[in-house]
Amino acid sequence: MCTSDLQEIPKIFYSYQTQSPFSECLVCSCYLLDNQTYVIEKALKKHPGYTAKDVIFDYAICLTCSLKIREQFSKNSLDKINAYFSKHIVISPPSKKEVPINIDSYLDHCIVKKFPIAEITDFQIYAYCHGNKLIQDIPPYLISQSAIEEIIPLVSNKTQNILNDFYDRYFSPDPEMLLPQQPSDQLIFI
Ligand SMILES: [Zn+2]
Repeated sequence: MCTSDLQEIPKIFYSYQTQSPFSECLVCSCYLLDNQTYVIEKALKKHPGYTAKDVIFDYAICLTCSLKIREQFSKNSLDKINAYFSKHIVISPPSKKEVPINIDSYLDHCIVKKFPIAEITDFQIYAYCHGNKLIQDIPPYLISQSAIEEIIPLVSNKTQNILNDFYDRYFSPDPEMLLPQQPSDQLIFI
């Protein structure tokens, strides 16, 4: 990967627990900050009138592990999810003039619903990284809970079970984290 296509990882994508960049894959524990490509996902909650956000959960997963889990999804679920996104989202790589990309401009609205962040309380954010840098060609994005609620019914029972097993295995009760009561209320690997 060309180093000019990378920029610093914004602090919003740092690990909540360590307040520094994620260094290990949640699943295989491989070291991320040298030469791995990986995805960071965070579920956040805002409270009206406050600027602070609660972190519901956050993690980084290497591309290899992420693809392995997606391979277990039913074809039906993947087809429906992909159709949903291609209907609602047009992702165009940032033009060269925008580099380094303006992270805030990508995280100030729901990529699906287009609602401004001011109108969103529950949401998930995603970033694609390589080593200790953010990949600019896949800008970070935000998905609001209302979009998530449209996507969840598209997922088959089999796929939902895979997601629930993932939560059970990797998000064991941790007093630092406010896990969703229903794992299936949240989405991963999208
Ligand atoms: Zn991994």
